[in-house]
Amino acid sequence: MIKFSVSRVEKEPVFLEGSEPPEFWELPENDTFAPDTPVTYELQVRSAAGSILVTGRVQGKVSAACGRCLEPVKLEICAENIELYYAKSDITGEELDITADIRDELLIELPMNPLCSDDCQGLCPVCGNNRNLKKCQCSRQGNLAWSALDAIITEEK
Ligand SMILES: [Zn+2]
Ligand SMILES: [Zn+2]
Repeated sequence: MIKFSVSRVEKEPVFLEGSEPPEFWELPENDTFAPDTPVTYELQVRSAAGSILVTGRVQGKVSAACGRCLEPVKLEICAENIELYYAKSDITGEELDITADIRDELLIELPMNPLCSDDCQGLCPVCGNNRNLKKCQCSRQGNLAWSALDAIITEEK
């Protein structure tokens, strides 16, 4: 849990630093992403006029399958510029738990389509070969067939 004492923040800025277990993500099972190493955060909490301001960063790692070649990839997910405001009039109680809000900041950083690398060649649609590992002849054979056809058309002229 990531929380702080409201009365302490009223007196002085509070620095929150720590880590949370991978379960922090609360990702559904069989999701595209599986949580990996602990989530770490560095947050500054300070009191401003009428509100409490939380700034800082949170980062974690997830594993996923590459959207093109299906190989496992580890992704570093980082929310660099968190900026959350809490109206003091809405705060009840001595402690404010911001766990869910920090989780949301991290979740929106998850990519729509995880890739092992930007230039991943993916799987061959013909033979299923992983084209990052070795070249298959499928596309070349296709080209050869076309050039044979070109030759026939040329001869007929
Ligand atoms: Zn890939
Ligand atoms: Zn192929």
